[in-house]
Amino acid sequence: MPQAVPRPVGDERHRAATARLLDDLAALPPDAPVRLGKRTSNLFRQRATDAARLDVSDLTHVVDLDPVSRTARVQGMTTYENLVAATLPHGLMPLVVPQLRTITLGGAVTGLGIEASSFRSGLPHESVLEAEILTGDGEVVVARPDGDHADLFHTFPNSYGSLGYALSLTIELERVHPYVALQHVRFGSLTDVQVAIGEVMRTRAWDGETVDFLDGVVFSRDEIYLTLGRWTDSVVGQPDPSDYTGQQIFYRSLQQRDHDALTVHDYLWRWDTDWFWCSRAFGAQQPVVRRLWPRSKLRSDVYWKIVAFENRHHVIARLDARRGRLPRERVVQDVEIPLSRTAEFLDWFLREVPIEPVWLCPIQLRPTSTAGDHQTYGDAGDAPWPLYPMAPGQPYVNVGFWSTVAIEPGHEDGDMNRAIEDEVGRLGGHKSLYSDAFYDEPTFDRLYGGSEYRPVKKRYDAGGRLPTLYDKAVRRR
Ligand SMILES: Cc1cc2nc3c(=O)[nH]c(=O)nc-3n(C[C@H](O)[C@H](O)[C@H](O)COP(=O)(O)OP(=O)(O)OC[C@H]3O[C@@H](n4cnc5c(N)ncnc54)[C@H](O)[C@@H]3O)c2cc1C
Repeated sequence: MPQAVPRPVGDERHRAATARLLDDLAALPPDAPVRLGKRTSNLFRQRATDAARLDVSDLTHVVDLDPVSRTARVQGMTTYENLVAATLPHGLMPLVVPQLRTITLGGAVTGLGIEASSFRSGLPHESVLEAEILTGDGEVVVARPDGDHADLFHTFPNSYGSLGYALSLTIELERVHPYVALQHVRFGSLTDVQVAIGEVMRTRAWDGETVDFLDGVVFSRDEIYLTLGRWTDSVVGQPDPSDYTGQQIFYRSLQQRDHDALTVHDYLWRWDTDWFWCSRAFGAQQPVVRRLWPRSKLRSDVYWKIVAFENRHHVIARLDARRGRLPRERVVQDVEIPLSRTAEFLDWFLREVPIEPVWLCPIQLRPTSTAGDHQTYGDAGDAPWPLYPMAPGQPYVNVGFWSTVAIEPGHEDGDMNRAIEDEVGRLGGHKSLYSDAFYDEPTFDRLYGGSEYRPVKKRYDAGGRLPTLYDKAVRRR
């Protein structure tokens, strides 16, 4: 059934929702710790907290959308699924649409998001024009790249709600075409794929054709695919656009066909139906199970709830223990590696970590201007977003792997994640903080902009009502 087009709710309703949230906050003792009471999450670390949950269910809509200036003001807890449903009828989409439908705009900005457009458009926070933020101190401020709250604007990305909560964000949008034509190009070596990524990132083209989207999958060290996407107004070479929301499985198609075409809507959600490939852990890729599985429930948020249930009740872990199987360590991570070290990282990873497939998503900070083929970046020495310090003009590859590994005798839970942290650090990379992290505090401080973070935390959450970034990311509070 086609999804209804969500209509912008307007400023008055947004202000009423904000006022209700502030009333809820005022009803709590002034020093009571708080947390967001969201209905969905894509976080992968468990949290131990008894903080009061703020009801933010009214902050889930598009406020205004202006097709002429190609901007939208969007409430912080709006899922990308609803945001895209509101923008596509205008022929527009956010510059970067993270792959999982229930990731929210606020979550992607404060927790960082990426997608196959990130090699040309950077990260979601780089198309934010202004952010209305409820700070830890209970003030509502509007942060922009310049002006009084520029410090908050620049440290908000990767602060994971530890400085305040985005109530609304004004973002840029870009024009879409009806379809995305795909070419899956196979590579037989890690070095070859690294070189090819560099070429596409530099030229935005492959074999003389423009590339608008770029990601890839490593099935093994000699079977790697880059998927090159190109906007198109018509489907060529096949009767209809492909459909991977039912019996067909997108990631397998990479190995089965060279060319493909999807509607823009289905392209944006191509990875959600099977949570990349992770749905196989629940049997959802076995033909019989898949036929019985309601199509509307082939969604990442359904699988996330199954995992969250297991994390709470340990049913499978207990069954495994009874069968004498080794306990398992969760290894669910996305890491950013400088492009020049990507083959080296993958070589190490495929030797040391028994997880395949692995997702590749080339990213670089958004250029400050683009003229023809020439892109201009800020000063290479500056990290404009200090809590996730990527260098302007430097290409990186996000490597994503989401599974568990057996804890071999003599090892303990966390060892594999620690080894990955060490290798990522050695290669000058960074790790996303949505999942488990094990860094000691000084290392974390150095990697995630501690000296820039502390004065901003002090300014906007003087009473420490919100946990610090380290508390959230490592101590799981
Ligand atoms: C298996 C897996 C794969 C992933 N793959 C991708 C990927 O391919 N691309 C991608 O972009 N991301 C990916 N992510 C990461 C995801 O984008 C981040 O976890 C993101 O923060 C989730 O957003 P959410 O809206 O679901 O937030 P939540 O999970 O609800 O919250 C995440 C954090 O953000 C804070 N937060 C949420 N909303 C706000 C707000 N409005 N203001 C301030 N703070 C807020 C919360 O307090 C919390 O600390 C992946 C995650 C998983 C688990």
